[in-house]
Amino acid sequence: MIPANTHPAQPLRWQALWRDAIRDPHTLLELLELGHLSHRVSREATAQFALRVPQGFVARMRRGDPGDPLLRQVLPLVEETFAVPGFVLDAVGDLPASATNGVLHKYQGRALLVATGSCAVHCRYCFRRHFPYAEQTAAANDWQPAVAALAADTSIHEVLLSGGDPLSLSTEKLTQLSDQLRGLSHIRRLRIHTRLPIVLPERVDDELLAWLARLPWPCAMVVHANHANELDDNVLSAFARLRASGISLLNQSVLLKGVNDSVPALADLCEGLFAGGVLPYYLHQLDRVSGAAHFAVDDRQARALHDQLRAQLPGYLLPRLVREVAGAASKLPLM
Ligand SMILES: *Cc1c(COP(=O)(O)O)cnc(C)c1O
Ligand code: SF4
Repeated sequence: MIPANTHPAQPLRWQALWRDAIRDPHTLLELLELGHLSHRVSREATAQFALRVPQGFVARMRRGDPGDPLLRQVLPLVEETFAVPGFVLDAVGDLPASATNGVLHKYQGRALLVATGSCAVHCRYCFRRHFPYAEQTAAANDWQPAVAALAADTSIHEVLLSGGDPLSLSTEKLTQLSDQLRGLSHIRRLRIHTRLPIVLPERVDDELLAWLARLPWPCAMVVHANHANELDDNVLSAFARLRASGISLLNQSVLLKGVNDSVPALADLCEGLFAGGVLPYYLHQLDRVSGAAHFAVDDRQARALHDQLRAQLPGYLLPRLVREVAGAASKLPLM
């Protein structure tokens, strides 16, 4: 899906970059001088969850390196088609909860809006690969069913925008939501979960910053970087603009085999984030979704990596190692 264009005659820069994302695995491999890897790409996996990656993210991949950690996150490999016991379609049990109005209220005081099904990048390990969310997003019908659900429950103090990627919506659409939420006196905080500042930092434009600066609530943005190579100058500059607008920046990562499953990779990521004014928040154990088994790191190794990281980093740079368990009252620390 291409985001709604508010100025048809002259698309915003980020919308043009969004439209020009790479969508063909073979084009991607040619750009990276890796044409000989074509046989590792699965047509079936691509049909199930299309490849999508902005060119600015491709520019951060190393030419000629089949093991590049950014490439691995987006390339549809034949491994995705292997059935692996324990890896299932609805790994976090979200489907029934999100069926009606795009509001997920699993944890006390916080409601998550599945704002949209669109993302600027398609991450192969994502559980959303099996759920396009087309008919059940919170933005449908001008947000009204979702806002009505939030209005009806005064125990909700924090609204989380998630998706898909909520910043794939136009700023106009986001303003429509914040205007309606202003009337709800029980809302105290807004949180935005987005990968766009990482994969398409041009999204952090003047229009978005003006919207953020006008919000009546303290606002946290949880970005999603998995490897230090994702943090180039454009990303660091987007972080700086967000911070100047009063946004608290946090990062969540997924522990991914072949991407960040080493102490140096994780330490470089945490230090690189802090250099950009972002605090590490969560390091997620992979959701056991079918097609993602080749990214799995077993719990014992995950704990060992986290223990070594704890010994090496200041406490405030250590992300919490957690996993999502259906029915639990929070994300659970890995014990
Ligand atoms: C992860 C998640 C949250 C936020 O959890 P925090 O621990 O506060 O970051 C809220 N709602 C849902 C449905 C979630 O999956
Ligand atoms: S950007 Fe987030 S929601 Fe979208 S595919 Fe990647 S991990 Fe999943």
